[in-house]
Amino acid sequence: MSLEPVIGLEIHLQLKTKSKMFCGCAAHEQGAAPNANVCSICLGHPGTLPVPNAEAVRFGVMLGLALNAEIAKRSKFDRKNYFYPDLPKAYQISQYDLPIAQHGFLEFDTPAGVRRISIVRAHLEEDAAKNTHSGDGSTLVDFNRAGTPLVETVTGPDFRSPQEAKLFLQELRLIARYLGVSDADMEKGHLRCDANISLRQRDEAGNVVGKEFNPKTEIKNLNSFRHVERALAYEIQRQTKLWQAGSPPAVTTTRGWNDAKQVTVEQRVKESEADYRYFPEPDIPMLELAALADDARHHLPELPAARRARFVEEYRLKPEDARQLCDDPALSDFTERVFSELQGWLNALPELDGAQDEQWETERKKLGRLVSTWTLTKLLGVLAERAADIRVAKLTPEHFAELITLIATKKLNATSALTVLNAMLDDGADPSHVMEDKQLGMMEDVDALADAIDRVIAQNPAEAARYRAGEKQLLAFFVGQVMRATEGTADAKETRNLLAVKLDDIGAE
Ligand SMILES: [Zn+2]
Repeated sequence: MSLEPVIGLEIHLQLKTKSKMFCGCAAHEQGAAPNANVCSICLGHPGTLPVPNAEAVRFGVMLGLALNAEIAKRSKFDRKNYFYPDLPKAYQISQYDLPIAQHGFLEFDTPAGVRRISIVRAHLEEDAAKNTHSGDGSTLVDFNRAGTPLVETVTGPDFRSPQEAKLFLQELRLIARYLGVSDADMEKGHLRCDANISLRQRDEAGNVVGKEFNPKTEIKNLNSFRHVERALAYEIQRQTKLWQAGSPPAVTTTRGWNDAKQVTVEQRVKESEADYRYFPEPDIPMLELAALADDARHHLPELPAARRARFVEEYRLKPEDARQLCDDPALSDFTERVFSELQGWLNALPELDGAQDEQWETERKKLGRLVSTWTLTKLLGVLAERAADIRVAKLTPEHFAELITLIATKKLNATSALTVLNAMLDDGADPSHVMEDKQLGMMEDVDALADAIDRVIAQNPAEAARYRAGEKQLLAFFVGQVMRATEGTADAKETRNLLAVKLDDIGAE
């Protein structure tokens, strides 16, 4: 008999709208003073009327579509009643039986292959205010967040490991960013997660023994991917011990994650749905979503999974490189434009005129590798050194593509190209100009390179003798000397080849 985790997630995603869900107050204003962005509606004054934010509804529908869900033709808002100081109306406007989206799924990559997780529903609601508990026992309430639009997504109980839950959340975050509906930054509270977990028994043949779903633990307010993974791993351990002791959890409980102690702590018994006394929000008419869903479907941007697959297929990238390039929408857009420049360049190369498919394939692969290496290691490395970001860097995809062509045609070696890249980032210059200014062009004169190599060998007779005696690792020393003699303008590969021949030739004499 073995124990298997059964995990489901409820995710709150803060939508990146200009104004709040039901009033015109600014949402997400950075650094606003507490209670600066409030009005009689989001403070819940009597007699005020909420008006749904069209942009929030559209964002919710887009997210539903991206999660392969059915968008409701008619959807309505409901009041979820509970009393807490962060909720001025003593109810939250949410959605109960007619959410905007239902019955979807999301597929994502895991080390064990593609996993598909069902999406039970996604609904719109308003966020609560933010409570700050101070040391003297008092609580301060900031209503700037009250009424900010949220989409709550509920998954099926389909996850079988903490790692799967984390990978799903990371993919969801990326989808939200590609759609532009949320920054989905967990540390900033744009993406908040509750996780449900229970265990069940399977026999050796893999059949579930006993109940399929046992009383679960709901872990509230997980605010980083690491916390999600660790809290679930802890719960699996804790519940496994209870099962092994013959006393598995008998009732559903709510726990919180204590990161300092790395444990979950019981909070309170969960309210049942009836406790919220849901009833239809009488002040907001039914939403008619059919036309909006049609329009949004036609304008949905390419999603990360599709873009990764296309990068592999179209640009011949390794799947892992495509994944890294697509992990940031801005970087993937940049890469896309670099490739579109380079496709034109490749098509116009005289040496590929009339070339066989096989040769085209080789060139495309080479180019793909060059672009991913120069983007993922060199460009991102230089940007990191400068604490800069691709979104604001003074680097156009056109200039970067030109740099790639200079490297591909051996007009620049790797060292010089890095110098050129830095200069390009300094002032947005184009690479050919930088190359001329700094005289970084490659030595194209083969005779001049041969002369330089002869000189270096003549200047280092002892090393040359040792090389000939079998110390072949000295080749690197000679390459270094030639590079120094040519001020880095020699092509390293050609230098290496020529050196090997000349060193051996001398030995044969
Ligand atoms: Zn307001």
